[in-house]
Amino acid sequence: MKRFLTVSVSIGFMGIFILICMALAGGRTEQLSGADIAMGTVITQRIYVDRPFFHLQSDDTETETQHILSQIEALERELLSRRISQSETAQINAAGRGQVSPEMGALVEKCLEISQASDGAFDITLGNLVMLWDIDRLAAEPETLQGAESGEFPPKKEDIEAARAASGYDKLLVSDCEIILSDGIALDLGAVGKGVAMNRVREYLEGEKEITGAVISLGGSILTYGSKPDKTPWRISIADPFDTGQSIGTLSLEGQWCVSTSGDYERYVYSDGVRYHHILDPGTGYPAVSGVHSVTILTKDGFLSDALSTACFILGEEKGMALAEEYGAEALFVDEEGNLSMTEGMRQYFNESDR
Ligand code: FAD
Ligand code: MG
Repeated sequence: MKRFLTVSVSIGFMGIFILICMALAGGRTEQLSGADIAMGTVITQRIYVDRPFFHLQSDDTETETQHILSQIEALERELLSRRISQSETAQINAAGRGQVSPEMGALVEKCLEISQASDGAFDITLGNLVMLWDIDRLAAEPETLQGAESGEFPPKKEDIEAARAASGYDKLLVSDCEIILSDGIALDLGAVGKGVAMNRVREYLEGEKEITGAVISLGGSILTYGSKPDKTPWRISIADPFDTGQSIGTLSLEGQWCVSTSGDYERYVYSDGVRYHHILDPGTGYPAVSGVHSVTILTKDGFLSDALSTACFILGEEKGMALAEEYGAEALFVDEEGNLSMTEGMRQYFNESDR
């Protein structure tokens, strides 16, 4: 009996000793996932968090994925959405002028720079035109398109012209955080919102040392950060615009990157056999026709990847490629025939699928 007790106590001590060693030696990597809706699109997250061995999560503690989603929702609510009346964008649209936060002022300045660099192809002052076409909503709720046959869609030519006249980045002034919108123009930040969100999330991740890796997808934009526990590269699949269930290839990426794709294949409306998509040509007031089916931009900066993907779609392959190179970004175009073309630098990241 005495011998049995001695053995049991020894085993007990050994177990405790092993647990203490494991705790001191470090922890484990936990994988967290999330899928939510924000900014009118699906946000998916996969993040890797280093936990101490004895980490306990109580039910009422917000997880890291919830923190990340909160950052995106706050941006949408406070700054970017023209649909939410208290956001800075909606307030400026309603008042026509006003003081904005330094973050908003800097964002509008950066957008103006892309407008100039793209000869006006990219233009955040198209709010009236975007609202007139309303393709984001109609594409999401096709049943609301009952008016298509009764002539409400596409919009009337004169209405398109009027909305086009009430737009133009030369009518937007920003100085010392004061914004002035002339001639009834309205802001729409749909082309850069997810890019701004990628930068905000990246800043959050950089402040959370226990997060060792993350891949966050916001509709057409994807942020990679850090590394996977097995240290293999992130593999980002690029959708085939002819069949979005398939992929044209993958990008192999190490560390932090932003990937944005703009295309005419996801948000569109069919009316009388014609497909109307959501990326508008400021020169015509109609959905852009540039021979491009989709364009993917790869950069370190989220704002740039999102802004350039929209601008390059409208500019077309030749001018778009030049614009991407001007900003040191990599670009991959799929044209309407399915041909692929890309910047030299993109070749080292892109592995084409057998199609
Ligand atoms: P991108 O190519 O990045 O952008 C296309 C969008 O940019 C268009 O939809 C239009 O908004 C704008 N645009 C069109 N032409 C031009 C141009 N020439 N220059 C500059 N911009 C142009 N959608 C909903 O249906 N419901 C919502 O509640 C909703 N809320 C949103 C809130 C925010 C903060 C943001 C940023 C977007 C929201 N959206 C919403 C819009 C939706 O997610 C858009 O479809 C999306 O922003 C388009 O992104 P993309 O990556 O597909 O295309
Ligand atoms: Mg964009």
